[in-house]
Amino acid sequence: MIAKIIVDVANGAVDRIFEYNIPAHLPVKKGDWVVVPFGPRKLGGFVLEISQSASTNHTLKDVLAIKQGGKILPEMIELCKFMVEKYNIKMVDGLRLCLSSEVRSESVHEKTILMCRIEKSFDTQKYLEALPARSQKQRAALEFLGKGAEKKSALENLFGASAIKTLLQKGAIEVFEEKQNRAPLALAAHKRKVDLNPDQALAVEKISAFKRETFLLFGVTGSGKTEVYMNVIDRALEQGKTAILLVPEISLTPQVFGHLTNRFGEKVAVLHSGLSRGERFDEWNRIQNGKAQVVVGARSAIFAPLQNVGVIFIDEEHENSYTSETNPRYKTEEIALFRARYNNCPLVLGSATPSIETFEKTQSGDYVLLRLPHRVHETDMPSVQIVDMTREIRMGNDSIFSMPLLNALADCVKNKKQALLFLNRRGFSSFLRCVDCGFIASCTDCEAPLVYHKEGNVLKCHLCGKAYKPLTHCPTCKSTNMRLGAIGTQKIVEEISKLFPNVPILRMDNDTTHGKNGHQKILQEFAKHKPAILVGTQMIAKGHDFEDVDVVGIIDADQTLYQTDFKSAERTFQLITQVSGRAGRKNGGGKVFLQTYNPRHYVYTYAANYNFLGFYDREINVRETTNFPPFAVILRILISHENESVAYAQTKEIFDELKPLKQKYGEDVIYFAAMKSPYGRIKSKFRFQVLMRFTKNIKDDIIKEVYTAVNKFSTGKCQIFVEINPSSLS
Ligand code: ADP
Ligand code: ZN
Ligand code: ZN
Repeated sequence: MIAKIIVDVANGAVDRIFEYNIPAHLPVKKGDWVVVPFGPRKLGGFVLEISQSASTNHTLKDVLAIKQGGKILPEMIELCKFMVEKYNIKMVDGLRLCLSSEVRSESVHEKTILMCRIEKSFDTQKYLEALPARSQKQRAALEFLGKGAEKKSALENLFGASAIKTLLQKGAIEVFEEKQNRAPLALAAHKRKVDLNPDQALAVEKISAFKRETFLLFGVTGSGKTEVYMNVIDRALEQGKTAILLVPEISLTPQVFGHLTNRFGEKVAVLHSGLSRGERFDEWNRIQNGKAQVVVGARSAIFAPLQNVGVIFIDEEHENSYTSETNPRYKTEEIALFRARYNNCPLVLGSATPSIETFEKTQSGDYVLLRLPHRVHETDMPSVQIVDMTREIRMGNDSIFSMPLLNALADCVKNKKQALLFLNRRGFSSFLRCVDCGFIASCTDCEAPLVYHKEGNVLKCHLCGKAYKPLTHCPTCKSTNMRLGAIGTQKIVEEISKLFPNVPILRMDNDTTHGKNGHQKILQEFAKHKPAILVGTQMIAKGHDFEDVDVVGIIDADQTLYQTDFKSAERTFQLITQVSGRAGRKNGGGKVFLQTYNPRHYVYTYAANYNFLGFYDREINVRETTNFPPFAVILRILISHENESVAYAQTKEIFDELKPLKQKYGEDVIYFAAMKSPYGRIKSKFRFQVLMRFTKNIKDDIIKEVYTAVNKFSTGKCQIFVEINPSSLS
């Protein structure tokens, strides 16, 4: 018998199937993780297929061993084939996702601890009778162990090392090894089961038909989506099925874990980047062995070796973190959809602010829309006041904080409540604006705002790449008061401390949240104080259940709006809705202040009124007229190299190679150009890109032809990625 194997070669340049002979004594099966000779080395390999005969006459080398603990399910082999087709990745890169690196590596092992128990054949009664009175500790230890085994170290602490040693020597007790589970159990205050409201009950009913369907669970923040997930999971477990729940940036949402482990206990396994290698190893094994039936985790948990999947949830489906932007690049929703189809089960996308593309699918009938239109606790959504910052300046206030926000903060402090100040900083660039009239410098060709690049001291258009000299005065009002739009959290903390010297002020951003429970610590500290002010970036916008936050200030709402790609408006809307959702969660009556230089922008009007549907109608219209997704397919080929001219030359070659395709599919190609990437250099690699935009109904053939063309360059010096509808074009 022959095994067809993909070898786990580190650099992955070899991506083909090798054949090995299966020696009679080894029961190698499809999906096994084995050791094979590869040149002078011994490497791991994934067995994709078993066949009767080899495809060549060469003598084949033998499979050396089967490794325990790793196995790729047939489902996952199919999934990897799908990924190879869809994303043009290497099979080995896909397979690696399906077998955690901890299981693959030799360096992580099961953890065992030493335990003690009473030796069965030992006559304890007789021993105790003969024991002198001064040996009280031995007596106590034996009585203790009469109730059950205990850790050796714990016994030594309780009764002293010498007593335990004597008991061992006398043969009264014995030591044995026990496997210890490093599974991290996140606990939250226990919550009793709640009675579902009619909207929740309907959603649970529909999903629990466990049919092959995709749902969008569209519910405002606090409408009880998590409760719906848990009820469906209950039903799935009753029917002997398993479930996957994906949440974004997991370390930020320990609450979700708490709820799930409280409800499902040992049946839950968690997978996320905050785990230690040992913890991951154990969790992975519990899933593989069928001990855990519910997997909760971040993006990569969609590759968990769970069998008999009955339902898959993607919470906060609109989040960017569901797109893998490093090799292997993939979209979690597409992987989840594959698994749901394979298992004939529902996929549920949950969000308070669905992505435009997802919502469009509910309108076209591809997805089923389920709505939770009310907050569980019947509290009103916080009121959102749009504050015109140019007006503030005209009135003589040129500080970071508007008067309405400052007044509200003062009240909040007086009433011993809490406040959040949110700073919208993503990426590392910023735009140039006129402080007096709010004018924003933008590209003459693209109507996209220009982004300042310190390197070269230029303003650049991120769509066409055109560069401009920084403006010294405003073309609209002639003011020379031009400023770059970025302020930092540190600066805000500094300023706010001056205004409220006696109030605890905390900061949460990339710099302050290092370490395993970085976020947790800050949140716990914040929870202790009233009044208190928390200053932070995107991180504070997500999922936290702050109970006493009365005031939320969005310091510079405009930042994401001017991010210059077709999703800017959508992202801004999502962010404002999420941040606003942090106020008045328990008692209602929260106030949100949205500071902007562009108060009449439609995004703000809709966001301030929580009018997603209105926003959707407007935005889908814009997408249609400008030919962007979901009405078009964007394809980006990203080329990077340390040497700028190498990257440039390669980009030009690829562009030329693709020209015939543009000819051939002329009508379907809306846009075709090559340029430097908006972030022209990341981690000392220069980045260029070829952008193609197609009409929405193009055939897969075109994409395959692009892949074939691009693959001709894959053995060159440059790193080349092809992405379909990338979540950002930066
Ligand atoms: P979401 O995920 O939509 O933001 P959650 O599911 O976290 O909302 O629910 C918000 C809060 O309301 C949680 O504390 C949850 O336990 C509680 N809750 C949810 N559904 C109900 C219900 N039917 N009755 C009472 N409390 C509920
Ligand atoms: Zn431009
Ligand atoms: Zn101006």
